[in-house]
Amino acid sequence: MPHDSYKALYLHIPFCVKRCGYCDFATRAIAREDPYIDAYVEQLVMDIRKLSKQGELLDIRSVYIGGGTPSHIGISRLSSLLYALSVSMDLTNEDFEFTMEANPESLDERMVNDIWALGVNRLSIGVQSFDDEVLKILGRAHDAKRAEDAIGEALGRFDNVSVDLMCGIPGQSAQSFADSLQRAVKLGVKHISVYPLTIEPHTAFDKAVLSGQIQEPDDDIEAEHMQLAEQVLRSCGFERYEVASYALPGYESKHNSSYWQGVPYLGIGQAATTMTQNAERRMRVTDGEVVDDLNRAQMEAEDLMLGMRMSKGISDERAALASEHVEGVFEALESLAEDGYIEHANGHWRPTAQGWLCGNDLYSRLLDLAP
Ligand code: SF4
Repeated sequence: MPHDSYKALYLHIPFCVKRCGYCDFATRAIAREDPYIDAYVEQLVMDIRKLSKQGELLDIRSVYIGGGTPSHIGISRLSSLLYALSVSMDLTNEDFEFTMEANPESLDERMVNDIWALGVNRLSIGVQSFDDEVLKILGRAHDAKRAEDAIGEALGRFDNVSVDLMCGIPGQSAQSFADSLQRAVKLGVKHISVYPLTIEPHTAFDKAVLSGQIQEPDDDIEAEHMQLAEQVLRSCGFERYEVASYALPGYESKHNSSYWQGVPYLGIGQAATTMTQNAERRMRVTDGEVVDDLNRAQMEAEDLMLGMRMSKGISDERAALASEHVEGVFEALESLAEDGYIEHANGHWRPTAQGWLCGNDLYSRLLDLAP
């Protein structure tokens, strides 16, 4: 279908050194030397060149290389990939955001220097915790010391470094989580994503919960930890700009914000999703299969829902535009405000702390406007 130009590009690297017990991402444990990785990277490079020739990359303004563990594939393969990207789009534009994910065990000084020279300007490091006991429970391939060293190396070259931290892990105390948050801030990262542990079907954690080896995460403890994150990070100057994302002013992720603002994006690689849209239709395709096909009303309802993931919420103008295509928008917003999930201030409908804690209810009531 004729479509609006893509603004964001995601590349998926589905390889890790080992599988963490809780992970259900599209990835697998594989030795770094395995030639399968060479073939995969070669295919990605060919896809980039083809899309570039077709003119699909002309308006891209953010790139995100995620996984899996991109740093696991080593600097030589990463260089090929980054070079192919650098000749396909203008990475020198100062607003261009180019993020690569890395894990502490496979990030070293040489990789940091080389990926920076090839255009990456933001590093997102999967730390999860600075408590060795918690890292062992999660089955991570690094310890706290390695995570600190990797962050130090990253900050030696990159201004914009983000870390992921997890909470609500059985065996993780509130103090341990608070210490991890403070450790990340002290090290000098500019962005922190905080995720509560979820037990996904068919993972090692799922089996361990079913057999009674580990406790199921407790909703109340997860909610308490999420509130603790807000308290600790706010006191350190971080803004919670999205339900799970905190940043110092000016360091909000542009790429992730594109997903929450209904901006069309291209995904390359196994299990990567592409979102294509025009004024009437929005489609998501993963591995050649249509996973979503929305009409205009459903698109508007989805944008209202996505808007509520962000602290700025939805403007009155945006809500009015949605109401031209969906019935009952303002009634739904009023009713969510009466329930304490959102509030109306300064021309915006914004999620409250309670709305974020009951996110599933808040989001589904907006999606239900156009089922
Ligand atoms: S490193 Fe990340 S992607 Fe890889 S197995 Fe662990 S959680 Fe999953």
